[in-house]
Amino acid sequence: MDEFAMGSSTENSAYGPTGNPWDLTRIPGGSGGGSSAALASYEAPLALGTDTGGSIRQPAAVTGTVGVKPTYGGVSRYGMVAFSSSLDQGGPCARTVLDAALLHEAIAGHDPLDSTSIDAPVPPVVEAARNGSVAGMRVGVVKQFAGEGYQAGVVQRFNESVALLKELGAEIVELDCPSFDLGLSAYYLIAPSECSSNLARFDAMRYGLRVGDDGTKSAEDVTALTREAGFGDEVKRRVMLGTYALSSGYYDAYYGSAQKVRTLITRDFEKAFEQVDVIVSPTTPTTAFPIGERADDPMAMYLADLCTIPTNLAGNAAMSLPCGLAPEDGLPVGLQIIAPAMKDDRLYKVGAAVEAAFVEKWGHPLLEEAPSL
Ligand code: GLN
Repeated sequence: MDEFAMGSSTENSAYGPTGNPWDLTRIPGGSGGGSSAALASYEAPLALGTDTGGSIRQPAAVTGTVGVKPTYGGVSRYGMVAFSSSLDQGGPCARTVLDAALLHEAIAGHDPLDSTSIDAPVPPVVEAARNGSVAGMRVGVVKQFAGEGYQAGVVQRFNESVALLKELGAEIVELDCPSFDLGLSAYYLIAPSECSSNLARFDAMRYGLRVGDDGTKSAEDVTALTREAGFGDEVKRRVMLGTYALSSGYYDAYYGSAQKVRTLITRDFEKAFEQVDVIVSPTTPTTAFPIGERADDPMAMYLADLCTIPTNLAGNAAMSLPCGLAPEDGLPVGLQIIAPAMKDDRLYKVGAAVEAAFVEKWGHPLLEEAPSL
């Protein structure tokens, strides 16, 4: 995985990147690329991830697996390392919608040890996954989740999925969510700000690594040497960015503005869910890119989460599931389904219907002809 869950490719790992089982020269997504690669290569039937901006869904999309970000507070974070506390959410990763539901049900529910944990019954995710259907459902397509920067084959498979939903009895509604365009910018102020606070606890005194403690150095020097050695470039970049954004005189201009954008995005979702039951989009703008292609270009790397971030900012639930292979490179494309908070069961109801239709059509959810296994 990427260090401290910061990344979209596993290239920020101190141990080196993970290969995508579909093509080992390409990224398996991130930060949870290890989880998705282990599933796609049949090394494990189930895996866990945390999704702060897309780290469960984007790896699922680029490896042809299923990943769910539950409603914020739906699964306890007790014992997890905190990255950005107002966004972090643990959730299930699996190869099928039903497997994801079974894992979701096992890990979800109220936990008094996590103060953000929701004290309410777990949505009926397994029942929904066993009874997939979209008949009579209103499905929204957001016009902001398209356009420049989207790979043609991804758009093609997405459009085919929308046509399939219609065939299966859903009503398709076009939606306008203008604030979604600001999601990435708001996220890259909020997440670094919160991580600069959360990672302050790695001070060489209380946790893990301690470097240079030879009896001659001050505590400050040992802390500085430890952080220099123990944090990678991306983590340092975010801690510096976040510290700057939170500093007095800049707080309102940066963190404060980002929080206002967050409110606007939440309102866009509220308005949308007055008109539809779920929203669909591509999970990622492109298929798995080659390892190394974006490693030195943080802005290009950040774009991988363009479609997943709004859900984290608003705190509702979303799933990514396979919707075929992009014709130009033969790599998996992810379909994202988004539901209102605490309506996680809708993800599974729609996801199971789509998955069953793909299996019937292709013999396998990803391949246009049955695999030769
Ligand atoms: N790729 C995003 C980031 O780098 C999301 C990470 C995540 O969800 N943990 O922050």
